[in-house]
Amino acid sequence: MSNNKTDIMSLELNAIADEMIALNEKKFRGIQIFEWLHQKDCFTWKGMNNLPKALIAKLEEYTYLTQIQLVTKQTSDHDGTTKFLFKLHDGQMIETVLMRYDYGNSVCISTQAGCRMGCTFCASGLNGLERNLTTGEMLRQVYAVESAIGKRITHVVLMGTGEPLDNYEAVVGFIKIITHEKGKNLSQRHITLSTCGLVDGIHRLAGEKLQINLAISLHAGDDELRKQTMPIAKKYSIDDLLTACEAYFTSTGRRITFEYALIAGHNDHPSQARALADLLRFRKFKCHVNLIPINNVVEKSFAKSNQKDVIRFRDILLDKKVETTIRRSLGTDIDAACGQLRLNTMKE
Ligand code: SF4
Repeated sequence: MSNNKTDIMSLELNAIADEMIALNEKKFRGIQIFEWLHQKDCFTWKGMNNLPKALIAKLEEYTYLTQIQLVTKQTSDHDGTTKFLFKLHDGQMIETVLMRYDYGNSVCISTQAGCRMGCTFCASGLNGLERNLTTGEMLRQVYAVESAIGKRITHVVLMGTGEPLDNYEAVVGFIKIITHEKGKNLSQRHITLSTCGLVDGIHRLAGEKLQINLAISLHAGDDELRKQTMPIAKKYSIDDLLTACEAYFTSTGRRITFEYALIAGHNDHPSQARALADLLRFRKFKCHVNLIPINNVVEKSFAKSNQKDVIRFRDILLDKKVETTIRRSLGTDIDAACGQLRLNTMKE
């Protein structure tokens, strides 16, 4: 935010402790601050009542705390899915979605304002990338939803606006802080990172040895078809992508999820289901296909596949022993497609 001021919310525990030393303070103050921010949801220096006044004065002078402001929210009458639109300090708008399941409350966060990946079926990328979000801005989305519903968030998906691996350091920082035992202590296994397939980023992530789930937006069983909707396919082939997935599986043991958004008349033909099955069934890693009947995007000419085609597609994969599920479409009565609430509010 302010020039030369330190963004404390984005710092891991050790880095806050280092900051304390730089301010001529005791290291343990770093633990206190970390707990206030990431466990006790206190986002003002004055609210941290075990810090001395002299330290608070220094913190106010040399650091800042990320703030986000709720602009609007929409809740689905069908399933309780809630979309939140937040405004950041510089006026950027970001979307966060709460999904309620039997097993807990899951939040889908944005990792960038806008996106530069340009997938043609996506509302988020329509205006390109505005900027990366900071670690603190990602954390505040989760904390804000948690305080809005008064319940603990048990799962986080990095699947909102933005390509997480295009904002690598801030995203890894987010994962480390939200799973820290002195913070929310969320299980790494309850976090899913979804990528359009930045191969270098996947290899790098494999080296972090995190236990998070990796979801790949595949959406096609061959390179030519994939290039038609996903510009990233011109840079990395499916073969390269699957090699990176194998590296991730070897390093973490986590099953890989492949997301496949079904678009009527584009990628929902039985021959495409067979191509997808052939691509995945003899791999050296465990995987799972998630079929997503897309929401219609008014600005795009894509339409949802009909139910019969979706089931036929799934059955072909199952016949070939590829684990497959059809994702329940949540929030169909609200601006549910990724980036639509943001887009519609910006238009207004
Ligand atoms: S689908 Fe994801 S990666 Fe592709 S443009 Fe949308 S936000 Fe970006």
